This record gives sequence, C-alpha cells and structure tokens, in this order.
Amino acid sequence: MHYHPPATTTRLRPLIQDMNLYTQEDRNVWQLLVERQMSRLPRLASADFLRGLDTLGFSAGRIPVFAEMNEKLNQYTGWQLKVVSCLCPVAEFFTLLANKTFTATCWLRRMNELDYLEEPDMFHDVFGHAPLLSNPAYTRFFEALGQLGQKYGHVPAALEMMERLYWFTIEFGLIHEEGQVRMYGAGVLSSVGETNHVLSEKSRKTSFELDTVIRTPFRTDVLQQQYFIIDGFDQLLHSLEPLEERLAETDPEGNKQYFQV
Ligand code: FE
Repeated sequence: MHYHPPATTTRLRPLIQDMNLYTQEDRNVWQLLVERQMSRLPRLASADFLRGLDTLGFSAGRIPVFAEMNEKLNQYTGWQLKVVSCLCPVAEFFTLLANKTFTATCWLRRMNELDYLEEPDMFHDVFGHAPLLSNPAYTRFFEALGQLGQKYGHVPAALEMMERLYWFTIEFGLIHEEGQVRMYGAGVLSSVGETNHVLSEKSRKTSFELDTVIRTPFRTDVLQQQYFIIDGFDQLLHSLEPLEERLAETDPEGNKQYFQV
C-alpha cells in the first residue's frame, strides 16, 4: 500500500529475483544505503527491528536473496516475501497480508536517486520492511490488519482509515523503548531524510491514539509533519478491535469522509 506516483523512468522490474541481473551499480547502491543507515540506526531504531536485521542476516556487502530470507522468516513467523514489479492493487495486497505474505520489489534505485525515489524499491521494501516480519507480535498485527482489509477494503471511508493506520504505524511508526523514542516504520528506517526529520524539533510526535490516527490525513510527497508513538506492538493488535467498530460504522455506498491533501 504505497501512494507514490507511477514511475516515469524505464527500468527492469523483474518478477523473479535473479541474482545475475544485479549490476555493480546495484551492489554499490545497496552497500552505500545500508552503511549509511547502519551508521545511525543502532542508536535510533527499535531493538526488535535491529534483531530482525540480524536474524535475516543483512549485510552491506551482499544484496539479500529472497529465497534465503523466506526460509528464515518461515521459521520465525511463517511469513513470506513475494516479489512484485511495482505497486500492488489494494484488494490483492490485503489478501496477501492475511495470508502472511508481504510484497516487495527486487530492483534497486540508481546511484543518482539515493535520497529521492518515485516509488518504493528493494531497499525500502526489504531493508525497511522485512526485518520486523520475523517478529511474532508485529506480524500478528499485520496479518489481522490484512483480514480487516479483506472485509472492509472495498468501502472507501473504511479503506481511508486503514490507509492512515498503515501509514502512521507500518510506514512511519515510532515506539517507546527503555525510556527512549525509537523508530520501527519502514519509511523512516529506509530514508535518511526522514531519520533526520524524526529527530528534529520540527516534527510533532504524540502518543498513538487510534481515533486521532484514523482522522489524520497524510502526504506522501513531503517529510512527515506528525508521527505517532506506540508502547509496543501488542498495542497495535489491540487497536484493531475498536478499529473494526469504526469500520463497521462506515457507509458502504458513501464517499470518503475525509480528503487526502
Ligand atoms: Fe513501504
């Protein structure tokens, strides 16, 4: 579930990961991005994310192999990464989540796009998202969100609430850990700009509260103005019961209640 505009550049977007297709530029890009984030994340990222990086064997010197990651994810949570060429239609995306499957691209951005991307690439999808797919508490929430998506995703107002919850948790979520605020959202962890922005005084950081989250619009083309901090992944799972009450109240025939700005 991403909101970036479609790509305008032509580029190979394979549906199967073939390690032979990666170029030296790909390897350099991967190395640079991983080294750059890892020079800071050990102090800033959630311990569960860092453990996941370790569990899946991430290293700057080697582009990860989907088959190997899937073998490990299967042992820990039963989740899988499925290669997609670009963005996945919403209905399919929810069904895959409900079946413990996350979609990820296997191509990398170019060297001249290190900090700006039109759509998520493998660094965002895999470095940002895959580590926490090895975490049982996180994936219980993700799977249950997929099930709600299957049930209510066709209702525009309900979809919008779920998009916002997804955006402010899975993509840009922060977590209280040992007296500190740490990052667990893939959009923050995979972007130098967001990583810096979270730490600055310019962004608002408030405690996670479901009704506030589902009423908060977001933009995909600027650094986030607002971040929400959870106390733990169980809190997210528990938020799904009240969320379902809100989803059930939406009008299946109605328009969106709020407009994305
Ligand atoms: Fe993402």
